[in-house]
Amino acid sequence: MCDIGHRIWHRGYCAGNEGNHSVRISEDRVLCTPTGVSKGFLTPDQITIVDMDGNQVDKKNKMKRTSEVLLHLQLYKSRADIRSVVHSHPPHATAFAMANIPIPEGIHPEAEVFLGRVPMAAYTTPSYKELGESVIAVMNEDTNTVMLGNHGAVCFDSTMMGAYYKLEILDAYCRILLLTLSLGRVNQLTPREMYDLLEVKAKFGMPDARIKTALDGGVGRDNRGYLMAFPQKGKK
Ligand SMILES: [Zn+2]
Repeated sequence: MCDIGHRIWHRGYCAGNEGNHSVRISEDRVLCTPTGVSKGFLTPDQITIVDMDGNQVDKKNKMKRTSEVLLHLQLYKSRADIRSVVHSHPPHATAFAMANIPIPEGIHPEAEVFLGRVPMAAYTTPSYKELGESVIAVMNEDTNTVMLGNHGAVCFDSTMMGAYYKLEILDAYCRILLLTLSLGRVNQLTPREMYDLLEVKAKFGMPDARIKTALDGGVGRDNRGYLMAFPQKGKK
């Protein structure tokens, strides 16, 4: 957890004391980062332990658990396959959350395979239980990353490394999308290309429900917000 924290801070995904991450270690125990500590300076003794109701059970720990632990616990309760959660404010991805522009689909094969569809949750006050509810409301069974409106991103996986990789891939993808804007146009994959890609993804053991509508152009239907941001409006 400390090593992942260092990477999150080093790559600029969190400034100051922002962000938090956790690992579910048993049915009723979750390791989570403390509040008020930079992820770049975490030490093992600062990592807190909570139960599934968010009560901190390591009473001798001087650190208090993150106030965002409710979001993590709601995710663990929603899907048994989620064993680690990383919440962060990666700048390139968060720019899309600030502009309320859905993360576009059907452009970058790597993003499609490793992230899939990234839904956007409506803005809610950080640390309130409504934050977790807004995330779960937009999730499917194959969702692994959700944008938080005007806030940041949350990634989850069966392992801590897997959840962190989602974060890295998300911010790299969004950085590419923003650089593409400066070139003035973007090439979207065709419905056939998307279908073939999602078929390969399924063969890798990552079924993606979007394959059902890929041939009908279902992938990329929400790209309008991103396409509108191009200097030459309407051109692809
Ligand atoms: Zn946050």
